[in-house]
Amino acid sequence: MTTGLALTVEGLTVNYGGVSAVRDLSFEVPGGEAVGVIGANGAGKTSTLKAVMGLVPRRSGRLRLGDVDLGGVSARNMVRHGIGYVPEGRHVFTGLPVEKNLLLGAYARKWDSSTKATLSEVYDLFPVLGEMRHRLAGALSGGQQQMLAIGRALMSQPRLLLLDEPSMGLSPKLVEDILAVLLRLRSEGLTLLLVEQNAKLTFEATSSCLVVENGAVAMTGTSAELRNDPRVRQIYLGL
Ligand code: ATP
Repeated sequence: MTTGLALTVEGLTVNYGGVSAVRDLSFEVPGGEAVGVIGANGAGKTSTLKAVMGLVPRRSGRLRLGDVDLGGVSARNMVRHGIGYVPEGRHVFTGLPVEKNLLLGAYARKWDSSTKATLSEVYDLFPVLGEMRHRLAGALSGGQQQMLAIGRALMSQPRLLLLDEPSMGLSPKLVEDILAVLLRLRSEGLTLLLVEQNAKLTFEATSSCLVVENGAVAMTGTSAELRNDPRVRQIYLGL
């Protein structure tokens, strides 16, 4: 994996017609760190990630990855600038073999010897994908498809990985497997921005978090602080 770069977001605002989905959101993900965004349904988590990736228009806001200003960069070029994106719901190409899905993740880069090396790294991270490389992605279980979606994003050799609800719909055992993958990516120095409704997973996978309510930051803190906060425990951990 490549070394992670810091992401800086300042004053991000996203509107859909009259709906204000994200309001003046500012945060930083330090290089090589994992930051989580938790919040209820409709809080604005997905819109935040999509706006960082350029998949929905930013009404206002500044973005920087390392020293590079990302204002006006298209989603395709976000990949070239080093941002990988794992969408909510996985969106793998079910009619294509596993390996073809992975190779499509490298589309924005020149295919060279490093593409093969990255493919080997992905198979090392997810041995099951190597075993099933010739099977159609549609034949994979939900958990395996989530691994494939993460592997596909890693094929672009990102410096920052955005993950939208990777635990959605998975059994507790598979959520543990996702956590192990996130911790490994973090230990290898990749920068992670993780959006989740599963606050428990998020606190275990990240060093700090934002709690988003109605499109705005309601709380921030280290993951250790937040997981012990009485309000967070009641609302987001159901304790
Ligand atoms: P979820 O966990 O359900 O995905 P979320 O926290 O990711 O929720 P968003 O999907 O970002 O929240 O939605 C934020 C707000 O924007 C919600 O009020 C939602 O209804 C609205 N919204 C999202 N996408 C659109 C869209 N394409 N058009 C209009 N409104 C939208």
